[in-house]
Amino acid sequence: MTAAAILGSYGHEVSVFEKNDSPGGRAGQIREEGFIFDKGPSFYWMPDVFERFFNQFGKSASDFYQLKRLDPSYKIFWADRPPISMPADQAAVISLFESIESGAGMKLKSYLEEAKIKYEVGMGDFVYMPSMSLTEYVDIRLLKEAFRLDLFTSISKHIASHFKNDYLRQILEFPVLFLGAKPQDTPALYSLMNYADITLGTWYPIGGMYEVSKAMYQVGVDQGVQYHFASEVIHINPNKNNKVDLHFQNNESDSFDYVISGADYQHTEAKLLSKNLQSYTPKYWDSRALAPSALLYFLGFDTVLPNLEHHSLFFDASFDYHAREIYDEPAWPKDPLFYTNSSSLTDPDCAPAGYHNLVALIPVSTSLEDTEEVKARYLDIILERLSKHTGIPTRQHLIFQKSYAQRDFIREFHSFKGNAYGLANTLMQTGPLRPKIQSKKIPNLFYCGQLTVPGPGLPPSIISGEIVARFVHRKILA
Ligand SMILES: Cc1cc2nc3c(=O)[nH]c(=O)nc-3n(C[C@H](O)[C@H](O)[C@H](O)COP(=O)(O)OP(=O)(O)OC[C@H]3O[C@@H](n4cnc5c(N)ncnc54)[C@H](O)[C@@H]3O)c2cc1C
Repeated sequence: MTAAAILGSYGHEVSVFEKNDSPGGRAGQIREEGFIFDKGPSFYWMPDVFERFFNQFGKSASDFYQLKRLDPSYKIFWADRPPISMPADQAAVISLFESIESGAGMKLKSYLEEAKIKYEVGMGDFVYMPSMSLTEYVDIRLLKEAFRLDLFTSISKHIASHFKNDYLRQILEFPVLFLGAKPQDTPALYSLMNYADITLGTWYPIGGMYEVSKAMYQVGVDQGVQYHFASEVIHINPNKNNKVDLHFQNNESDSFDYVISGADYQHTEAKLLSKNLQSYTPKYWDSRALAPSALLYFLGFDTVLPNLEHHSLFFDASFDYHAREIYDEPAWPKDPLFYTNSSSLTDPDCAPAGYHNLVALIPVSTSLEDTEEVKARYLDIILERLSKHTGIPTRQHLIFQKSYAQRDFIREFHSFKGNAYGLANTLMQTGPLRPKIQSKKIPNLFYCGQLTVPGPGLPPSIISGEIVARFVHRKILA
């Protein structure tokens, strides 16, 4: 949607073909029986990236939706100590750290000062590079900056070098989960996520995260983009006029000067292109470290569950053990960590009066088969843990439930192996080491989205659209 809107604003004629019947892709919404659920993303982080998107069209996010900063940003439940709520105010977070570990307050202050530099450099020039080759990075200023970015240390080591307390370490490791890899495998560059979390804050667009998708769609339409829904592309080929043909499920086809695929990269490569036109082999794709999939539950309760916040993290189980079951020895987790999002606590319109909406997310490996039996088992686990922490017999108050897992991601989005958020941001899958935005075989075929640069998450996906739009525009002008 970003790429389409930007290219539309440059005066190009742009059409978008989307297999589903509404815009937004993974950033979707479920509306049923008076409940509204954020179906995918729920953490609105890095508001500056969203603002930059709207500013390009002379608009602001506030022209489309009202943002509220959440306070606390989130609450964490533990097995063996009282929950910790993360205040929105940075000074209060520093005091909180100090109250848990003597000296940790000052250390957090300097940790965040460094994380701020990483954010400014990393989210400045670096993140907007097309990353077609390493030579783009051979710019003295950027090289100098690269040494400040801590690319070659893991974030877990970086955090451990500042803080001894396990709870504090886990709090700082939590944002890394968005990047799709274990903290041990994620470069310390990504302490910039701690700056995004603690300093820039957790926000919520009133009405739900789907307001963002609707706004981006509207911006595209205002730039003259033609959206076609229920229009699945089933084959792509170059033609003899140096154009690219798209073939659709309804047997129609059309030719374009340039094509950008925002679908899962591997799907486009392996399913839509003939073998000789694929840039990467099946072996390449199989060796990629994918971000996890998610086992999701959309739950409606006929009472307001106490003790929860808009975002609640249930770290009342071993993170290391669960991480091993996601990344190293794929298995359904024995004792899962999970996350819940209850937007009705902030936005009463998301549930009938006096009721409570709750999305529960368990991160799981992509290489597992979700069955009804598995889904029923994990719902029991979640309800039991929720009952323990809220003091309410949650099963008795459950009046709406829906689940969603690997097979649903594949069916709905052609997700590669059922991933929820693309390719992980490990060191070996950063920048020029990610799948390239331009096809190696078809010069006017391009890619964007969470499987290419810069990576998973809403802000990176928006940035990806901007990178490819500018890259294509430059090709058109050349
Ligand atoms: C459960 C979950 C929780 C998340 N939480 C957060 C969060 O809190 N904060 C955050 O910032 N990010 C979060 N994310 C990540 C974020 O949602 C994604 O990174 C982002 O939405 C991906 O955007 P995209 O455009 O790359 O891909 P998509 O949204 O998948 O868009 C690709 C589109 O291509 C379409 N398509 C596929 N194949 C075809 C075809 N053959 N023909 C036509 N159309 C096709 C799909 O239907 C889809 O609409 C979450 C994701 C999930 C799933």
